[in-house]
Amino acid sequence: MNVGINMDKNAYFRKIPKVDTLLKEDAIQELCSIYGRDVVLEAIHEELERLRDTVRQAGEKEILEALSSLKERIAMRLKKEEEYSLRPVINATGILLHTNLGRAPLGQFQMDAMLHAAQGYSNLEYDLEQGKRSRRFIHYAEEIKKVTGAEDAVAVNNNAAAVTLMLSALAKGKEVIVSRGELIEIGGRFRVPEVMEQSGAVLKEVGCTNRTRISDYETAINENTGALLKVHTSNYKIVGFTEEVSIQELAKLGEKYHLPVLMDMGSGVLIDLEEYGLPHEPTVQEILKKGADVVSFSGDKLLGGPQAGILAGKEAYIKKMEEHPLMRAVRLDKCITAGLAATFRAYRDKKKAEKSIPVLQMLSRSQEELKEQARELKEELLKAKAGERILIEESAAMMGGGSLPGEKIPSYALTITPQGESCEAFAKRLRNLPIPVICHIKEEKIFLDMRTVMPKEKQLLLEGIKSCLRTDSRQ
Ligand SMILES: *Cc1c(COP(=O)(O)O)cnc(C)c1O
Repeated sequence: MNVGINMDKNAYFRKIPKVDTLLKEDAIQELCSIYGRDVVLEAIHEELERLRDTVRQAGEKEILEALSSLKERIAMRLKKEEEYSLRPVINATGILLHTNLGRAPLGQFQMDAMLHAAQGYSNLEYDLEQGKRSRRFIHYAEEIKKVTGAEDAVAVNNNAAAVTLMLSALAKGKEVIVSRGELIEIGGRFRVPEVMEQSGAVLKEVGCTNRTRISDYETAINENTGALLKVHTSNYKIVGFTEEVSIQELAKLGEKYHLPVLMDMGSGVLIDLEEYGLPHEPTVQEILKKGADVVSFSGDKLLGGPQAGILAGKEAYIKKMEEHPLMRAVRLDKCITAGLAATFRAYRDKKKAEKSIPVLQMLSRSQEELKEQARELKEELLKAKAGERILIEESAAMMGGGSLPGEKIPSYALTITPQGESCEAFAKRLRNLPIPVICHIKEEKIFLDMRTVMPKEKQLLLEGIKSCLRTDSRQ
């Protein structure tokens, strides 16, 4: 290298401010008051390191730029670092229980209950009457019993844990009879045969993929049978020449041989979905009434609550599960305990549930309402004189989260045809917004489904889309 250049570099190195000098500057002092001195100090060290690299490697112009923007870079680094990895997004996919987007959003009353439990001490496991230890199950068990009609109930971390606990506590080392048509994989590695193996129960498959009869179950029963299990085929449908055994028939068989009849219901529906123009889904109450001994279902699917797995049914079986060693590993924390109790309480009054549980609110919104929301957005966007083509189109929302497979929920979408860029590029810009917007792409258009965009998110969505439009072209 040429000596002259090295000398220049040395001059630049001397221009790099010292840490102490930087710390005395007003702008940096202000950052210290926001983020704390230690955090700012770390950012300064990292940015100074970067600056030294630039001086070593870059040309004059770049070096001067880096030197003059040092303080802004420190501020930007701090702002970026402050962002949590888990952030809110706007779900414009039309998939209500999108597992990747966190499934059921919670309502104010549910969050209030959780906050209440979180912010101080509580009687989580303390009997206020007696002044001694009590059990955490009691806070939600009564609520669940009231709305489901179950003798008893217990809840755990999620439905996968509920199924594992149920099989382990009631059928470990024994055969559990399941129809071949119900050996499902839910995704996220939940596969019935594998869950069965983990629980220590032995899978006994009967029947065929499309047809299983009650006689298939009965023939398979022997002295080592521990339970009869039915699994809701949550995310697929078998159509055509099919036959499945009803829960009543299974219950009768279980009674005859003194075997518990269990059902993994997947999504826990407590109200009749026909009211929303959807096909009838058996409710938890119905399945229990028809004779299932224990049912399990998710807290954050159609129930619309926090992530949990609920087990409801005969008291003797629930007690067995409560006392099982696995219970300690999968129990609920105080916040979810509070949120779950509040969710079930809301179901005591159906109208109240519909008004306050977001999943039900979204399901019950009328087509006109969704169209109006799309129209309002479109009107505002047209004011921005965008070059993109913006339309209101009919679309189909979906339940998602392994509920109501293939069932289309009528909806409306705002569609955008990007100009001079691909849909993927436009969708990426939507995802990079401060509050990311998640859409889907169909027919070379961006579809923003209105059913999963809650009214309170409308303004945020509008601002987000606006900032992605190319307002420079046309008109
Ligand atoms: C969703 C589902 C599960 C898993 O429930 P998580 O709450 O996600 O653990 C298990 N079984 C069935 C039938 C399901 O639909």
